[in-house]
Amino acid sequence: MWNLAKFDSIESLKVPMVKRILPRYVKIITKDLPAKFQISKRIVFDFESNMTTKKMWEEHDRLLEKLHQTQLMIDKDKLSLDELEVPRFSLLDLKIMLGKEILKSCELCERRCRVNRISGEMGECKVTQTKNSLISSEGIHLGEEAHIIPSHTIFFMGCNFHCQFCQNFTISQWYESGTNVHPKILAEVIKGRKREGARNVNWVGGEPTPNLLPILKTIKLIEVNTPQIWNSNFYMSPKTMKLLDGVVDMYLSDFKYGNNECAKHLSKIDNYFEICTRNHTLATEQAEITIRHLMLPNHIECCTKPVLKWIAKNMRTKAIVNIMDQYRPAYKAKEHMDISRAVSEAEIEEAINYAKKLKLNYVS
Ligand code: SF4
Repeated sequence: MWNLAKFDSIESLKVPMVKRILPRYVKIITKDLPAKFQISKRIVFDFESNMTTKKMWEEHDRLLEKLHQTQLMIDKDKLSLDELEVPRFSLLDLKIMLGKEILKSCELCERRCRVNRISGEMGECKVTQTKNSLISSEGIHLGEEAHIIPSHTIFFMGCNFHCQFCQNFTISQWYESGTNVHPKILAEVIKGRKREGARNVNWVGGEPTPNLLPILKTIKLIEVNTPQIWNSNFYMSPKTMKLLDGVVDMYLSDFKYGNNECAKHLSKIDNYFEICTRNHTLATEQAEITIRHLMLPNHIECCTKPVLKWIAKNMRTKAIVNIMDQYRPAYKAKEHMDISRAVSEAEIEEAINYAKKLKLNYVS
């Protein structure tokens, strides 16, 4: 089974659609290009004590521009990473400083709880960890898309959504307590998993967004060249999106709802569609993307079709779309009539035909 999965996965990097839509991701895996965080680590940050937050953001934006130019030169083979010095302080250090600043009045996601998580206050996600990672589990997964596996998946505790059908509800809604892992240890684990054959690092949860600071601290310590995947519900704030720029190589989004009412009803979240689509647009400006859409029963017209239609209109050639039909009622799903069953064959057929009509680059 492992060998079969591995064979499919190796072949998957040669598939024209994957090479066309995720060229940089493929080249990081084939060792032809450095992951973005490696370049961020080489962008010099002139650290000054007592910098104001405003000054730090201005500096971040300036260095981000420099990073984009440097990456372009590396990608065009006009510069190699080895030609760049490893500075005492880098853009990645500045990102870590800003990540800590945000936590003083938390707006990592669009819940914008404004709690001081550095002093231990708790927001909607209930994540209090700031120094270390609080993870449920980690390991090599084979149950992802062929171009992603074998994937080193790291499951963080806590989530800013309250999805009524969450299959990982013991993690996302705190029925577990999690394990505290120091960034140094996690970076070592990542190195070991890479040696075992992991193709990437897959930051997931729960939701990775509330855990941004320990994730950045860990990435700073990663010594191996491996693509970073941000596997998320896409409710990040614009500031979080900025900090992810120059760190994430491929976004793996979970684009569930085609309207705000369904999002409010089933995930207890506001302004979903505007925020999620804004972040998809930002994500494709920064990195490459695979979009997952989990079909929900009775939500083909209100969710599946509008989601697929939006993708087709805004990023048809830039995204691989995985139309997922494996929904099974979990957690509180039985309390909601509409989602209390699996997706029917007719619904799956309808969704696939719609994706075909829209000429999406889809897998299912
Ligand atoms: S990350 Fe958590 S505390 Fe911060 S804004 Fe989002 S839900 Fe609130």
